[in-house]
Amino acid sequence: MKEERVKKILSLLEKAYPDAKLVLHYNNPLELLIATILAAQCTDERVNKVTETLFKKCKTAQDYASAEQDVFEQEIRSTGFYKNKAKNIIACGKELVERFDGKVPDTMEDLVTLPGVGRKTASVLLGNIFGKQAVAVDTHVFRVSHRLELAKANDPDKVEQELCKIIPQEKWTRSCLVVGTHGRRTCIARKPLCNVCVVEKLCHSPDKIYSSRQE
Ligand code: SF4
Repeated sequence: MKEERVKKILSLLEKAYPDAKLVLHYNNPLELLIATILAAQCTDERVNKVTETLFKKCKTAQDYASAEQDVFEQEIRSTGFYKNKAKNIIACGKELVERFDGKVPDTMEDLVTLPGVGRKTASVLLGNIFGKQAVAVDTHVFRVSHRLELAKANDPDKVEQELCKIIPQEKWTRSCLVVGTHGRRTCIARKPLCNVCVVEKLCHSPDKIYSSRQE
């Protein structure tokens, strides 16, 4: 039953958002890595504005490694938590140069050893630029997974494990993109647009603010 329900939800979401893709702008693994670190606690749109300039100045891991903390902080200031992000990105650049020949590694094991890189960031990279299957639990995937009872855990890494169990592996990356897009466009945090939601009939969330169900 649960398998069928998950299949139905994912199929409806796929049909609703055939254009689902990452909102972050990037052209290579390094750019996606930096953009994803900057996206913590910040909108992707804001990050895109910052990286439009940043990526013209910083093109290699060495560019980040040799950036001056004060200058770099100002460059990314509008993304919030800029002191910590600047520290992590500069340290990340150094690690990439010292341990990975300036390249972004393509395994979860290596990625999570980089400063500022958790499982979510690593999964975004694995799934979207390295062609692997990975479940990236960002704030939107987390919220929608809870509302649709796909996951119960309060910790994103545990939600990742729950989703990995109920979604077929060949669909991990794509499913996160459509679920995340549903969260951005319809199942919005404060005021979900339940009256236009394609999975409304399958949703029993207390967050529903409108229902057309006759019950
Ligand atoms: S019915 Fe509302 S709360 Fe439920 S998934 Fe749809 S938009 Fe989200």
